[in-house]
Amino acid sequence: MVKDKMVRPMTQPPEVIEVSADVDSVKCNGGNGALGHPVVWYSFDGKSQVECAYCDRLFLKKSA
Ligand SMILES: [Zn+2]
Repeated sequence: MVKDKMVRPMTQPPEVIEVSADVDSVKCNGGNGALGHPVVWYSFDGKSQVECAYCDRLFLKKSA
């Protein structure tokens, strides 16, 4: 069986990840593959979004 794979070209814009409004911190490891990086935790710290310094992923709080 062949599994469908998400191919990520280098030019792909950073991912946006939505999290629930009650979440205070998120962790990111860049996902698998070339974009992976050590696990880091980010705190929203009152903001509605936080960006990963490693892979530029944007974590966005969903509005309730
Ligand atoms: Zn990241």
